Amino acid sequence: MQVFLGKGPERIIIINLQRGDKLLESIREQLAKNGIKNAVVLSAIGSLQRAVFHRVTNMDESPVDEFVTLEKPLELASLQGLVIDGEPHFHMVVSDLSQTYTGHLEEGTTVLYLAEISLAEISGINLKRVKNELNIALLKENSN
Ligand SMILES: [Zn+2]
Repeated sequence: MQVFLGKGPERIIIINLQRGDKLLESIREQLAKNGIKNAVVLSAIGSLQRAVFHRVTNMDESPVDEFVTLEKPLELASLQGLVIDGEPHFHMVVSDLSQTYTGHLEEGTTVLYLAEISLAEISGINLKRVKNELNIALLKENSN
């Protein structure tokens, strides 16, 4: 286990996406444009016409991921996760009329009608993600 203490929330960024906007790509673009390196998702809701995500399929030491693309009307019920060193790592919860899906948000996920996302910038941390020998990303102090 590793624990990192930040100072606190700084700026709050609210992103309002419209039909056809790409969820992950748009968030990345706004983080870069506004110089936000570390953040936590406060909320994310909306609707999607396309959801692209991956999910785990095994219990071995190294994960084997299944990639899923759904193209149908979907509710975006939640997005959770951290931005570390400018890179988002988000998992989402989406549902169609009969089923709920969860997974790691990938590029290509596209808004149906709208999405409202808020993130809080975290000050006082300087972290990066480093993959270990099992291809699992761990948080480390950034030395530079
Ligand atoms: Zn993930």
